[in-house]
Amino acid sequence: MLAIGDIPKEEHDVIVIGCGLAGLASALSAYENGVEVVIVEKATRALAGGSGRFTDGVIRSVIKEPSSEKNPHTGIYSEEDFYDDLMKTTKGMCDPELAETLVKNSASALDWLLNFGVEWDIPRPGGPGRRTAKGGGEGLVETLISAAEKRGIKILYETRAIKLIVDKYMNVIGVRVLTKNGLLDLMGKAVILASGGFQANPEMRTKYLGETAGLIQIVRGTRHATGEGIMMALEIGAQPYGHWGGFHTAPIDARSPKLECGVTNIRGFEYGILVNIYGERFVDEGENYYDLIYVDVAHKIIKQPGNLAFSIFDQKIKHLALIHWAGSEAIVADTLKELAERLGILYPERFEKTVNEFNAAVQPGEFNPKKLDGKCTIGIEPPKSNWAVPIDTPPYVSYPLTGGITFTFGGLRINTNAEVLDITGKPIPGLYAVGELTGGFFYHSYPGGSGITRNLVFGRIAGKNAAERAKCQKT
Ligand SMILES: Cc1cc2nc3c(=O)[nH]c(=O)nc-3n(C[C@H](O)[C@H](O)[C@H](O)COP(=O)(O)OP(=O)(O)OC[C@H]3O[C@@H](n4cnc5c(N)ncnc54)[C@H](O)[C@@H]3O)c2cc1C
Repeated sequence: MLAIGDIPKEEHDVIVIGCGLAGLASALSAYENGVEVVIVEKATRALAGGSGRFTDGVIRSVIKEPSSEKNPHTGIYSEEDFYDDLMKTTKGMCDPELAETLVKNSASALDWLLNFGVEWDIPRPGGPGRRTAKGGGEGLVETLISAAEKRGIKILYETRAIKLIVDKYMNVIGVRVLTKNGLLDLMGKAVILASGGFQANPEMRTKYLGETAGLIQIVRGTRHATGEGIMMALEIGAQPYGHWGGFHTAPIDARSPKLECGVTNIRGFEYGILVNIYGERFVDEGENYYDLIYVDVAHKIIKQPGNLAFSIFDQKIKHLALIHWAGSEAIVADTLKELAERLGILYPERFEKTVNEFNAAVQPGEFNPKKLDGKCTIGIEPPKSNWAVPIDTPPYVSYPLTGGITFTFGGLRINTNAEVLDITGKPIPGLYAVGELTGGFFYHSYPGGSGITRNLVFGRIAGKNAAERAKCQKT
């Protein structure tokens, strides 16, 4: 991009691009390490905070002490536990050095948050190692923004970073931004990229995640995760890294708002059956516990016609459907035919046949939703491995589901100092990156709650190293 005419300049120590949780952690850390910091944020003040604002604020870390009133959590969790969960969910592909840094610094990063006024709430049950910020993601974001403001960290809202500025040695020396008053060059001693992934950019989704992902209807988090930070860095020779074709998704209510819907998941499909708009099953709904299969199931839902599926329950099991959003109203009918019509299933008779065949294939045994009960089907495709009970007690209950995109996995390669590496593997002087725009952490899936941990751990590291660099440059 060639801009004609004089572009005003402003001098800063450290420039952070993005006021999500990664940017806030980076800025607070740089400030703590003794330098002046400015944050550039594309969104309005009301939407600042990135995707973190739309989360429940669940954060995973190593936990050594039992749960207490001041420090409520879901159970003790060792470094080995966290490392193993990272490796299991990513099918062994998480970069071991990044994983180790994340795990080893996780507990201290959560303690560090307390300095800014964050408090812990009683967490939702789930596996061990998880805490929940009081006020959820919104509470967390607002607490950190006000901590930044109190410390005099300037946040330039509605200001979009468009280009990294380099000198003739390829040191990063600033960022060109577009403000309400036109272009401005922010010159700095170090730049921290924290502008999120590319899940809200259909062009990049199609290019890197494939045509089906390009058609995803619902972006669960910020509308501003459009990949510009990644592209700016690639333009100056940064190294792409990680699972560029991968993304996180979850089965959510298909009626959720198209953007920034937050947590509208409907859990419990594993106890009933899932059918597509043709009235056909397409997945083993009870292959494993929800937490271990929901990402895969959501990927399969996205591949169904119209990106749509319906979870079907009868009166025996309808209480096992867990909704998170007030808009998740159940669709109820006295007969399967009527249910098919209400849901808009294109072939109601096929749907009735699917349910009847499923019911006939259910094997005897005790149904136990609390464990993998082995109560399965035989003779149908796909099978159901656990929790198979006949759907035969009307009124029937259903929820429409789609796979909403949560965040993308591919991004920039960083080292354990949060420095961005170039295509030859050398750090790009003056450039750091943190959060969703970094690759190499998550492949296929991620252990829930570790996205925010990544922001905190690497934000602290990037802030400290950027501040050290800025101080050296000044002397
Ligand atoms: C519904 C939902 C629930 C989730 N639940 C959890 C959870 O409980 N626990 C967990 O660990 N993770 C969770 N996640 C994932 C987690 O929220 C994100 O991975 C994390 O918040 C990303 O933070 P980030 O700062 O890297 O990116 P973002 O949150 O995307 O922030 C990037 C910021 O940069 C700004 N920006 C973008 N481009 C520019 C530009 N060109 N110039 C200036 N600014 C720019 C954006 O406006 C945004 O404010 C959830 C995500 C969603 C969507």
